[in-house]
Formats: sequence, C-alpha cells, structure tokens
Amino acid sequence: MIKKKGIYLIPKNEIEFTLYFSDGDKFTKLYENSYAQELVDYTEIDFLAVTVVLGYLEEDTVINVVNQFKKFDFVIGNLLDIEIEKLPESAGFGEIENIFIKFFRSFRDTRFTVRCYADFKSEDEKVTDKIKRIYELDHWFLNTTFNEFFFYNFEDDDAISDSMAYGYFFDNLSNYFDFLLYQLLAVNPNICKCSNCDGLFVAKTNRRTSYCDRVITEDGKTCKQVGAKEREKLMLYNVSGYQQYKQAVDRNYRRVSRAEKSTSYREKPKALDYKTYSEWQKRAKKAFDDFQEDLISTDEFLEILNELE
Ligand SMILES: [Zn+2]
Repeated sequence: MIKKKGIYLIPKNEIEFTLYFSDGDKFTKLYENSYAQELVDYTEIDFLAVTVVLGYLEEDTVINVVNQFKKFDFVIGNLLDIEIEKLPESAGFGEIENIFIKFFRSFRDTRFTVRCYADFKSEDEKVTDKIKRIYELDHWFLNTTFNEFFFYNFEDDDAISDSMAYGYFFDNLSNYFDFLLYQLLAVNPNICKCSNCDGLFVAKTNRRTSYCDRVITEDGKTCKQVGAKEREKLMLYNVSGYQQYKQAVDRNYRRVSRAEKSTSYREKPKALDYKTYSEWQKRAKKAFDDFQEDLISTDEFLEILNELE
C-alpha cells in the first residue's frame, strides 16, 4: 500500500467523499463531507485573517505561518507544508514565497467562483440552469489532471477485498481546489446565498432557497426563522395592506349602521355618527395610498386605521 505523504480522497458516491491524511507512515481518517459542503466550508474561513497571517511571511517565519494555516484548516495547512517540503534543498526563500502566492490566488479564486456560482439566478429560478454558468469555467480544467490511485482495501493493509476501488491523491493545494470545483461542474449541487447573513449554504431541495440554518441571534434563532418572520410582516403590511384598510373601513361602517338601527337595550355598539366616520374614511384612504408609496411608516398607517377604536 502506498503511503506517500498527502491527502487521500475516497468517493463514497457521486456527491460525498471520505478524506484521509497520510504523514508518510500511517493513515488517519479526517472526515466525511459532500463536495458542495466542502467548498462552502472554505468560503467560511476568515479571508481577512488569512491575508493578515500571510503578511507575516518572512524567511524565518515560514513554519509559524504554515502552523497558523493548519489552525485555519488541517487540509490547507498540511498541503502547504507538503509543497514546501517537496522543494529541493537548494531552494531559496523566493521559491517558498511563490508557493504562498500561488496558494493565496487559488484560495481567493476558489471562493470567488463558488460565490459567483451561488449568485447566479436563472429566470425560472431552477437550479438546473446553474450548470450553464459553470460551463463557462470549464476551460480551467482542460489543463488539469487529477492523480487517481487504485487500492484493494484502503484502511486495512492486511485485509483482502475482491474488488478494486479508486480514490484521488493530493499533495498540492490548488490541485485539490480544482478537483472540488470540477465536482461542482459534475454534480451541480444547489448552493445558495442566504438573504439574511450573506453566507453560502447547500440547500436541501433543488429549489432556490433564501435562508440558511445558521444560528444568528443570542436566543438561538436561525436565519430561516428570522427570515420567515420578516416575510410574514411584509405579507401582512406591504402586500396585504389593503386587507387591513378594508377591514377597518368595514368595521367602522358597521358601527355607523348599527348605531342608526339599534333599538334594543342589549345591543350597545360603540356608536359612530356618519360625519365622523366619513371624515375618518377619507384619512384612511389617503393613509392607504401613502403607505403604498412608502410615504408613511407601517406604524403611522396602522395608527390612522385604528384612530376610531
Ligand atoms: Zn443565513
């Protein structure tokens, strides 16, 4: 069994994989993930912090900077480490620096590509059209090859399995990112951008989804819960402001007619005379119109509607 130092990716199915790390001696299972979620996770890394750490790169700080990247992300840090180790002994600081520059560009471009991918809105809002957008990127992959390897039983050298399986080996960071982007092209997952927190997320269905499940408030509410409330408010006030207006007019009009007709001592409506009603109705109509034009706030609108209560 080969044990070359690097990252080993074993596909589980067409959307998920298991990741292993070999330090050149033994294998460690890292985690399981989907290609889409793996890319989304890389967009979550604090980009500003990455640029700050890169700013400290000098000849005698290379190890410290690599260790910082290992803290950001195990895979990123270790792939950087391996790339530096692969340099010949005669390599100077300039060559090490080039590896970091290449890393920075690859990291930045990958995040940018994934965000563009999530931003893309098709006319019928169906996710299948996203594939057209990614095809524009496919020229990237024309010159990229991925290092495939075959194995009998990956985790246990002694066990013998009947069938041969395959996986991918990475000892280079930009090659790993290219592979994940290549999977975007192949699988076309539904990555969306949250309308509340602006973060990317993998939607559970194929429909365009507006809000993610991240917990964002101190009392544990998610973007989805906050978003649903906002939308409810919109439905109630903006879209259906007419309903509120019409109900208030009907209610007050009934008060006028009841007051006029009422003879029974048991029926005691809050009577309204027609003149009061009619003057209010004109104000309410104007308030409704102003509300549609955004000239008055929701509260001002409701206050006028409820003036006679
Ligand atoms: Zn969110």
